Amino acid sequence: MTQSSLPKPSIAIVGYGSQGRAHALNLRDSGFDVTVGLRPGGPTEAKAKADGFSVKAPAEAVREADLVAVLTPDMVQRQVYAEALAPNMKPGACLLFAHGLNVHFGMIEPRDDLDVILVAPKGPGALVRREYEIGRGVPCIWAVHQDPTGKAKQLALAYADGLGGARANLIETTFKEETETDLFGEQAVLCGGASSLVQAGFEVLVEAGYQPEIAYYEVLHELKLIVDLFYEGGITRMLEFVSETAQYGDYVSGPRVIDAGTKERMREVLRDIQDGTFTKNWVAEHEAGLPNYNRYKQADLDHPIEVVGKQLRAKMVWLDNSPKEQKEAA
Ligand code: NAD
Ligand code: MG
Ligand code: MG
Ligand code: MG
Ligand code: MG
Repeated sequence: MTQSSLPKPSIAIVGYGSQGRAHALNLRDSGFDVTVGLRPGGPTEAKAKADGFSVKAPAEAVREADLVAVLTPDMVQRQVYAEALAPNMKPGACLLFAHGLNVHFGMIEPRDDLDVILVAPKGPGALVRREYEIGRGVPCIWAVHQDPTGKAKQLALAYADGLGGARANLIETTFKEETETDLFGEQAVLCGGASSLVQAGFEVLVEAGYQPEIAYYEVLHELKLIVDLFYEGGITRMLEFVSETAQYGDYVSGPRVIDAGTKERMREVLRDIQDGTFTKNWVAEHEAGLPNYNRYKQADLDHPIEVVGKQLRAKMVWLDNSPKEQKEAA
């Protein structure tokens, strides 16, 4: 439900990937005038056109917009801002990010006349769209970095509301807090932590002589049940649904795997994020053409759990394993 007291800026969405597409569709359905800015001939131009948007080069798309959402990959935002946005945005317009990295670490220093805000959905783009379509929403956190017009907060709330985020929850944050917690979450727990935990558990079982198929079901497949229970009702609900034996094992063995040493290493990860080391390394890696990134990625793709998982998932014909683009368009 969009609140009528909030402003209705005209919006240019620059980038039409995971977040860009979801934001553009949700905001249009919430009654905003949305234009999409993309490199002509870029990989997502056809998709934005097929979804019925007016698509222009970023420099053109942002000229008339009251609000410009920067939804390209983080590592190209600095260049997009310098080349297409800074020279062309209207005086007093609003610049919006879905992740604070470039502003917080000073890679983008926005023009003084622009309002600069953050609206970060706490979920992937496909979910931001799907939840909106069924009348729900993904919680969003929002922040104001600079507010020369005095309208920045209302614009952030209007945008978050248009995404459907207000249906779940909106929380005020800062660029610093969003950037550092988002990086920490994806590194230590969500992407890095969870995948490393699963791979290590699989390796231990297979190296001990157990069948890889059984190891896969045990440490990866069944994780969905656990995560769904976390999502619905926290660790309390997980404990309600697993056996007494599983609970006792959780209590005595969980802390042996994730111990004080693990927490100390998590703090090291957090310190590297806070002092800018992670971002400096990531920028250098991107500028070098992603040599280590590509090597790490290939190692994950080649891991034995991926080989056995592919065979086992093929038997569950109902699983959605359509390509990312198709899944996001569904
Ligand atoms: P993405 O990689 O899915 O999509 C990027 C889009 O930008 C594509 O349309 C691509 O064609 C376009 N693009 C690339 N280079 C461009 C250029 N030079 N000029 C114009 N367009 C260009 O990106 P994403 O994952 O949606 O991330 C966008 C932003 O959202 C990032 O700041 C990210 O941190 C943030 N974010 C992402 C998620 C997520 O779930 N993916 C969640 C929260 C926040
Ligand atoms: Mg995140
Ligand atoms: Mg992130
Ligand atoms: Mg990993
Ligand atoms: Mg079991």
